[in-house]
Amino acid sequence: MLTKTWSSFGHKNRIGFMLLKSLSLTESEFYFMSEKVAYLEVVVGKCPACGNLIVEPSWFAIQLESDIQCAKCRNVFNMKKQKTDRVLLKFELTQKGKVKSVTIV
Ligand SMILES: [Zn+2]
Repeated sequence: MLTKTWSSFGHKNRIGFMLLKSLSLTESEFYFMSEKVAYLEVVVGKCPACGNLIVEPSWFAIQLESDIQCAKCRNVFNMKKQKTDRVLLKFELTQKGKVKSVTIV
């Protein structure tokens, strides 16, 4: 079961941070290629306590080395040490900014 958690950041902080990151064109982890395509690198990690699999943006889990709280057992751990996979996702977008499709690059 894949679970996404954001326990380390409050909701407002998270949105602000994502906006900051998406506007930073020098970041290799998250960047825009054109108006209709965007990329986001994510990592998959396994909770060392219960084995639950978690997906997080790589800039959050790897670059910032943020601690993640498992949604299943509430264990707090570092994704960088528990990483099982790292993939680049390609988002196809409409002109209005809606997501049409997501694929692994
Ligand atoms: Zn767990």
